[in-house]
Amino acid sequence: MRDNELEIVQSTNKKPKPQTDQLAFGKTFTDHMFVMDYAADKGWHHPRIVPYEPITLDPASMIFHYGQTVFEGLKAYRSKDNRILLFRPDKNLQRLNLSSDRLSMPTIDETLVMNGLKRLIHLEQDWVPSSEGTSLYIRPFIIGTEASLAVAPSQSYKLMIILSPVGSYYSKGIRPVSISVESQFTRAVKGGTGTAKTAGNYSSGYKAHAKASHEGNDEVLWLDGVEKKYIEEVGSMNIFFKINGEVVTPALNGSILDGITRRSIIELLEEWDIPVVERRISIDELYQAYDECRLEEAFGTGTAAVISPIGELNGSERKVIINDGQTGELSKKLYDTLTGIQTGRLEDSHGWTVEVK
Ligand SMILES: *Cc1c(COP(=O)(O)O)cnc(C)c1O
Repeated sequence: MRDNELEIVQSTNKKPKPQTDQLAFGKTFTDHMFVMDYAADKGWHHPRIVPYEPITLDPASMIFHYGQTVFEGLKAYRSKDNRILLFRPDKNLQRLNLSSDRLSMPTIDETLVMNGLKRLIHLEQDWVPSSEGTSLYIRPFIIGTEASLAVAPSQSYKLMIILSPVGSYYSKGIRPVSISVESQFTRAVKGGTGTAKTAGNYSSGYKAHAKASHEGNDEVLWLDGVEKKYIEEVGSMNIFFKINGEVVTPALNGSILDGITRRSIIELLEEWDIPVVERRISIDELYQAYDECRLEEAFGTGTAAVISPIGELNGSERKVIINDGQTGELSKKLYDTLTGIQTGRLEDSHGWTVEVK
């Protein structure tokens, strides 16, 4: 077998499929996974689809010590006519490479991994749920596996793709969240790793999330790490505001994650001739817009929720209720349109969806 040829080892012990109305996010995994190895002298080699199972790693594996790891998150949707659709998966693999580069990890051949990903989904197609709002969540990730405590990039890596059927994010209907303006902790700073999907960005946010949650909020609104003044993101989502008919989202400034949902929303708004700008926006400007009754809607965007309307914003001295705490008209229209394209309910004039067959 050539080193780049995909090997497939079928599982002989298939698991029962779960009820999708009772799925907790990311707790159930399918029967197979994609794996590929990297060695400094061989590059990426031995792509394979094998039964899903625990892996063995040396305790000195560099991932455990200095955090060389990157990940992606995307979904496969089942359309009404039973096709299986991915949403802009090329963008995820491009971003995986940008993340890897930031963490001094080797980049992948996007075409080769895309083929492996599609073969894996095809093999696991019965795991793609069909009820409204459900999907098969796809988690590609790479870890440094060299057994060494030296503080230096690992010389070996493992790329894996695992799959998890997920229930509807909005099982009780689309629901606005309340978010807390974080004034103590920082998610990322320019020059740091905020633009990469890498583990440390998330574990460093848990404390802020716990504090927000303790105060009755669903998510954290991250401000810039230097002045604690400019709005960056919300939880693991990008953020948008509709102010006086214009949609504003923080510009990609070197610490914000370049979301694929964010990009798609901007493209849809431009197409609809709704003014949309990417620029710096301060929390004070937002409060002022609210005080002058110009703040019309706010929502987060990301693969998990697609659109998450924001009903309430809690700062240390301010409480802001947006659109009476209801889902805004534009938020709803964007949600319906994007999920419509993703699930094949609406025509995809952008070529965003990729059918797995
Ligand atoms: C993944 C992620 C997003 C959203 O990106 P999508 O490509 O839209 O899923 C936004 N912010 C952070 C920090 C993220 O990790």
